[in-house]
Amino acid sequence: MDQIINAVDLQNKTIRSKELLSISKRKEVLLKLKEAITDNEEEIVLALKSDLGKSRFESYISEIDFVVHEIDMALKNLDKWAAPKKVRSSLTFFPVRSYIYPEPYGKVLIISPWNYPFQLLLDPLVGALAAGNTAVLKPSELAPETAKVIEKLFGSYIDPKYVAVVTGAVEETTVLLEQHFDYIFYTGNGAVARIVMSAAAKNLTPVTLELGGKSPCLVLSKNLDISAKRIIWGKFFNAGQTCVAPDYVLLKSEDRAEFVSHCKKWIEHFFGANIQGNEDYGRIINERHFDRISSYLEDAEILCGGDVDRSEKYISPTIVLAQRDSSAMQEEIFGPVLPIIEIDNLENGINYILDNDKPLASYAFLDTDEEKERFIREVSSGGMVINDTIVHLSNPNLPFGGVGESGMGAYHGKHSFELFSHKKSVMKRSFLFENSLRYPPYKGKLDLIRKILSML
Ligand code: NAD
Repeated sequence: MDQIINAVDLQNKTIRSKELLSISKRKEVLLKLKEAITDNEEEIVLALKSDLGKSRFESYISEIDFVVHEIDMALKNLDKWAAPKKVRSSLTFFPVRSYIYPEPYGKVLIISPWNYPFQLLLDPLVGALAAGNTAVLKPSELAPETAKVIEKLFGSYIDPKYVAVVTGAVEETTVLLEQHFDYIFYTGNGAVARIVMSAAAKNLTPVTLELGGKSPCLVLSKNLDISAKRIIWGKFFNAGQTCVAPDYVLLKSEDRAEFVSHCKKWIEHFFGANIQGNEDYGRIINERHFDRISSYLEDAEILCGGDVDRSEKYISPTIVLAQRDSSAMQEEIFGPVLPIIEIDNLENGINYILDNDKPLASYAFLDTDEEKERFIREVSSGGMVINDTIVHLSNPNLPFGGVGESGMGAYHGKHSFELFSHKKSVMKRSFLFENSLRYPPYKGKLDLIRKILSML
């Protein structure tokens, strides 16, 4: 545990050195991070293959390029993002100028999960560095090969005085949480989020919690074919182990047969007849999650798929007919099982969603503008896509994060810079024109002040 205390001490010195207040220094570290990633792309792909059976394509678009793209965006815009912003001032203290200066918090702790073990650790890091913070990274122990590669990359490319990596599990994370960080960014489940937030409370450390939940997908469009195609893609990407994957589908019973037949067609089109042998289809992270997901098949009617092989942690793309009390509907599925719940109409579908915790994402396939606006207005969720799934997180102009049980705080692109920056309010006054109205003695001044304030 000395390693943790030393890492934190070293970063305290970096903060006192004020090195990262320099924008060019931040850019230098970000460029080094980009170099570390691009030089070692192959090793990262192999580690992700080993941990999650992830295909090269999915690793590239959802892990590697995702982070590189964010680095490029930060490098291109950092001068603009970091510049003080002038805001309007009231005439009360004329002459005066008012500004918002973004400043780094200091040391950031980033704790990440196993499902996108590369991207979910490094993407927040881009924002933390761009904003001038140092960082300690804690990769998930459940994706050990990726954690090893990350540890190696940082060991050889980036000085630990800027970014340190601490590998390990609960014990190490507990010690990390005992240290005084200036910001904690946690991605994972809600139970651990509560531990993180309690630890942060001791030092009044601000937190961002990127959590999960059951993201609903309401299908009332007549275009069941394209709806099915986009749902199947979003659901079975990374074998369903995506925080924003559609968790379950709500549709009318009269549409069910046609929808499921389109789903079957697209599953075969995407993954062929031998899905287990297809390298585009991933594996479940470990036996514990395999057993949990397989158990959802016990009390639901299987409409498609349902093949499992524990020796390979393989579960085929599966669709089940579920009820409100089915085991699959009691917690986030986070795997390749898609329950269908039958509903009667839009009102009924929206109320089903509102009966549950606010999800990280919600999806609706709808044809009329009136229905779309109603869904957007009435359903609260971290993010939302109309007529598609999961694509919102690819737009860095949209803040990505949850609400309620699905988390707090949001990042990506400029929003990451803002998340990791304290916005310092600065007023610059001059010595010209000294107005004595505000100083005691106040006698006889109130009426005049009232008049002036009512005119402003
Ligand atoms: P996990 O088990 O890898 O845990 C996440 C991190 O918490 C790890 O680094 C782990 O070491 C640490 N941890 C675990 N137990 C701890 C404890 N008792 N004390 C301190 N630290 C502890 O990942 P997970 O939680 O299974 O991740 C899956 C969840 O994350 C799902 O709910 C998913 O929806 C959510 N998720 C959210 C996002 C998002 O961006 N909002 C992204 C991915 C996953």
